[in-house]
Amino acid sequence: MALIMKGKPVADAIYEELQPMTSLNLTLGIIKYKGSDAGGYLSGLSKAAQRLNVQLRVNEVEQFQELTQSVVAMGNDPQVHGILLLKPFPKEWNFRQASDLIPPEKDVDALHPVNFGKLAQGRGKLVPATPQAVLSILDFYNVLPLEGANALVIGRSEAVGLPAFLQLMQRNATVTVAHSRTKDLPSLSRQADLVVVAVGKPNFLTKDHVKEGAVVIDVGTNVLEDGKVVGDVDRENVEPLVRAITPVPGGVGSVTTACLFKNLFLCYQEQTR
Ligand code: NAP
Repeated sequence: MALIMKGKPVADAIYEELQPMTSLNLTLGIIKYKGSDAGGYLSGLSKAAQRLNVQLRVNEVEQFQELTQSVVAMGNDPQVHGILLLKPFPKEWNFRQASDLIPPEKDVDALHPVNFGKLAQGRGKLVPATPQAVLSILDFYNVLPLEGANALVIGRSEAVGLPAFLQLMQRNATVTVAHSRTKDLPSLSRQADLVVVAVGKPNFLTKDHVKEGAVVIDVGTNVLEDGKVVGDVDRENVEPLVRAITPVPGGVGSVTTACLFKNLFLCYQEQTR
C-alpha cells in the first residue's frame, strides 16, 4: 500500500523551526489584483501568518501602473520585509516587469533574476517555495535516495518545474524535464523512480505513466466546476501502483505556504546582515 505523504507534518516541522520569527514582528507585503480569486491561498497565508506573528499588508490593484508603484513603495518601506505578487493578474500585464522591481532581498518568491541565477549556480539561499516544498516532503519522508535516482519533472514553469529540476539535479538525481512538446511521455515517465507533476490538468498522470514502486509528487492544484480541488494525478488508479504519493489537497500546498514564510525569515536575515 502506498505511503500517503501528507503535507501537514512537514509544514508543522518547518513552523517549529521558524519559532524565532515570532518575536520579530515581521511584515509580508502582498499585492493582488482586485477581484481575483486568490482566496484559498490568501486564507492559508493568513493562518500561517497568525501562527508566526507576521503581519500581512495586502494591497489590491486594478491597473498595471498601480502594481509597479505598489511594488516600488513596498520595496522602499523598511517596515515591509518581504513582497509577494499573488497571481493571477490580467494576462496582458507584464508580470515580469513588475516582479523584477522587487528588491532581491525582499523576494519571498525567489523569482528575481539575481535569486534565480544564484539558484541555477547552486548557491541560492532563497528557493521558490513550491519546489522547496517538494524537496522538503522528499526529505521528511525519506522514501528514496535522491542521489542517482531517475527523476522526471513534468512542467517547466519558472515557479515550479524549472527550479524543481535545478534542485533535484543539485541533489544528484538524474533529471529529465517534460513539457507540452515532449513526445511519448508515458514511456519516458515509466522509467522514472520519482515523478514530480506540475501541469495543471486533472487526471493528467495516469497509471500508464508510472512504474510500480515509483514515488509521485503531485503539485497540481485544479478547482473543478463543483468547487472540489484535485491534483494532476488520477489518484484512484495510480495510488495502488506506487510506493509513495502526495495527496491533493493536503500535500504540497500547505508545505509551500510554510516555505514561503521560511523565505520571509531568510529575507529578514539578509536585510539585517
Ligand atoms: P504553468 O505555468 O501553466 O506550467 C504548466 C507546465 O505544464 C508547462 O511547462 C507546460 O508545458 C506543461 N504542460 C502542459 N500540458 C502538458 C502536456 N500535455 N504534457 C506535458 N507537459 C505539459 O503552471 P505552474 O505555475 O507550473 O503550475 C502547475 C500546476 O501546479 C497548477 O495546477 C498550479 O495550480 C499548481 N501549483 C501548485 C502549487 C502548490 O503549492 N501546490 C504552487 C504552484 C502551482 P509548456 O511549457 O510546453 O507550455
